[in-house]
Order: sequence, then structure tokens, then C-alpha cells
Amino acid sequence: MSNKTLAILKPDCIRKNLIGKVISHIQEAGFKILAMKMVKLTPDAAKGFYEVHKDRPFFNDLITYMTSGPCVPIVLEKDNAVEEFRKLIGATDPAKAEEGTIRKLYADNIQENIIHGSDSNENAIKEIAYFFSRKELIEINGWNN
Ligand code: UDP
Ligand code: MG
Repeated sequence: MSNKTLAILKPDCIRKNLIGKVISHIQEAGFKILAMKMVKLTPDAAKGFYEVHKDRPFFNDLITYMTSGPCVPIVLEKDNAVEEFRKLIGATDPAKAEEGTIRKLYADNIQENIIHGSDSNENAIKEIAYFFSRKELIEINGWNN
């Protein structure tokens, strides 16, 4: 799965009516959408997803933010997807993100930063499985093959 990554359009992206603009940006960069849905995370689901950050000072605020409205997880495909997608979204803090990146264009601050992207192939596989069942992925892959 080294050609796949997980994106999540976060609650601020949905609140600001930016779903269409952000998805256009992603598609124009050559990523193919393999699966997509809208979900409202429970606190337990958000905590599980961000477990790696559980001891960080921003963890509780991050969970409040991620459960504040619906999210849109998306499975994306492109050669070298993880690295290419991290480049496209830019640094975690939009103030430090490069010009033209999704976070630079649309994010308000280091917490409300519009979008998630997996940070390694190993995590991409885990994160895709966190949101999408095997059945959903097999059906969608069938459509795209
Ligand atoms: N975050 C935050 N404060 C920080 C660092 C991160 O609120 O100082 C939030 C932000 O929404 C970020 C998420 O926690 O996207 C996960 O942090 P990570 O360091 O994994 O950043 P990312 O991989 O999303 O760039
Ligand atoms: Mg991360």
C-alpha cells in the first residue's frame, strides 16, 4: 500500500464550507480518490486515532476539536502518496507552511489546520483500516481497477 494514504478533512474544513475546494486541490495534484465518507467521531474514536499523542499537552483540546463536527476521511492513491500528500498539505502550523499548500491557504492555526495526512506507509495502512472496512475498500478498488 505504499501508493496509498489517508486524508481527513477535519471539522473546521467542513464548517468553513471548504470540502469542494480542498478536494479539487487534491485531485488537481494527481491523487485518485479510492474511498470517502462523512463521519462524526466519538471521543473514544478520536482518542484511538490520535493515541500516539495521548501524553502531549494539546491532546485534550485536539480531541475536543476533532469531535466538534463531522470529518471526511478519504483514501487517496498516487505514487509515493504519503510523502507527496504531506508536501501538498504543508507544515502542521499553517504559519510555517509553504505558500500554496492546503494548510497555508485555508488553515487558521496549529490546531485548526483543516486536514490530516498519514506520516508513514505503516501508519497509512493502519489509519485506512481505522476508517474503512475491507469490504468498502475491495468494492471501491473494484470500481477503480
Ligand atoms: N496539534 C495541536 N497543537 C500542536 C501540534 C498538533 O493542536 O502543537 C494538532 C493539529 O491538529 C495536528 C494534530 O494535532 O494536525 C496532530 O499533530 P501532528 O504533530 O501529528 O501533526 P500533523 O501530522 O497533523 O501535521
Ligand atoms: Mg501526524
